[in-house]
Amino acid sequence: MASHGAPEPGVRVRFAPSPTGFLHVGGARTALFNWLFTRRHRGTLILRIEDTDVARSTEESVRTILEGLTWLGIGWDEGPFFQSRSLEAHGALARRLLESGRAYRCFCGAAALEAKRKAAEAEGAAWKYDRTCLRIDPEESRRRQAAGAPAVIRFRVPDGAVSWDDLVHGPTSFDSSVIEDIVLLRSDGSPTYNLSCVSDDLEMRITHVIRGDDHISNTPKQILLYRAVAAEPPRFAHLPLILGPDKKRLSKRHGAVSVTEYRERGYLPEALFNFLALLGWSPGEGREKMTKEEMIAGFALEAINRKGAIFDEQKLEWLNSQYINDLDPARVAALIRGDLERAGLFVHDLDEGGARRDWFLHVIQALKTRSKILPDFARDIRPFLSDDFEYRPEAVEKHLTAAKEGGPQGVAARMRALRGALAGVSPFTEAATEEALRALAASRDEPAAAYIHPLRVALVGTAVSPGIFTVLALIGRERALARLDRAVSFLESGDAASRIRQ
Ligand code: GLU
Repeated sequence: MASHGAPEPGVRVRFAPSPTGFLHVGGARTALFNWLFTRRHRGTLILRIEDTDVARSTEESVRTILEGLTWLGIGWDEGPFFQSRSLEAHGALARRLLESGRAYRCFCGAAALEAKRKAAEAEGAAWKYDRTCLRIDPEESRRRQAAGAPAVIRFRVPDGAVSWDDLVHGPTSFDSSVIEDIVLLRSDGSPTYNLSCVSDDLEMRITHVIRGDDHISNTPKQILLYRAVAAEPPRFAHLPLILGPDKKRLSKRHGAVSVTEYRERGYLPEALFNFLALLGWSPGEGREKMTKEEMIAGFALEAINRKGAIFDEQKLEWLNSQYINDLDPARVAALIRGDLERAGLFVHDLDEGGARRDWFLHVIQALKTRSKILPDFARDIRPFLSDDFEYRPEAVEKHLTAAKEGGPQGVAARMRALRGALAGVSPFTEAATEEALRALAASRDEPAAAYIHPLRVALVGTAVSPGIFTVLALIGRERALARLDRAVSFLESGDAASRIRQ
């Protein structure tokens, strides 16, 4: 990676998910941008599991997050570290701020504060903690605490503006008058998010905080905490929100939002990776499908869009089909094996070294261009692996029984003639079968399509498939002839007659 500019070994970033659910695509995008940034600058990516919310954090969620990142190919250099193991350090930072007079004990209690907030709201005023306890003398405060009075520790927000040069949004500023004195430790001694976050980011020597826009209002609070301990804050980069097609914040309402769900639906990790990278970032020149190396080389926080990024599932599907098309058929074979087994279609001579292995890989190759997601293979491969498949009603109506094709009788006559023409073809190749079909159509003064469309339904049951002569060659002569016989019987039975479409 020598081409990625001068090494900057000092760059240290973190991905800090809360393990309270699945790995959301938004979280994965945050992890991905942190990853691209560290690979670009040869820095260090730390995985920090923010599990201090004991009631909501689960081991299952930790597992899903680690699995999701690993599946996507987002590796980390240090961790996973569990935030709950550094509670001591968080408490120590709060005490340090208390001792230096930057923080104070607040004995107000939730009920009293709630009553004040309601009263303020009733008068139409915005409520912010009124600093009642800031006026308590430190000696008195200590005495009350020693006597067992429950207290939170609040950071005293200094007057003035808090500004930073956001790497995505540019210069950003908050007036501290809008910020209430920040609770650092709850009355049970547990730290709040802002305290834990700053304590850990300091401890881990984080140089860049790259996270979602939803945290932008926490940033001035965190900067104030850095200032209070005379530490240099990291640089901040806030990534744009991910929106559904209706421009509302992406949620379950819009469909799948978890990485696991996309995996289960048959998306490839490299396609989802590429798609997530484009949520708010673009390397320019309209480039979309890129290798990881290309993404790393072109990545810059400054090039990230400020506006929300639309999650366009169709684009994901398109990218996935592109990546599927690039896959080696043997890799597809491995990826779809479970689907085939569940459909009762897998037999051992399709395995590596098996008698039909090469043929199987050719079938996969033929189906690749038509497959958008992995389950499309199991859906379309059935007529190749089994004789037990149905004619799709819309294909029957369009190509077997339509009056303009001469109805079932007309089509049956053509399929009989085609059977005769194909029976003598040897070897049964794409070129030879094509020649036979076209010669037959020409001799009867009919278009080749009048044979090709019903033949397709006869062979695979659908109105669309890979090139018909490829399909013919893959199905082989004996099975193709048997399927034409089956189509003729079907067409001559009352079954087909009942489906005539005028
Ligand atoms: N645990 C926080 C979250 O999942 C981390 C925020 C941050 O990166 O500071 O949103």
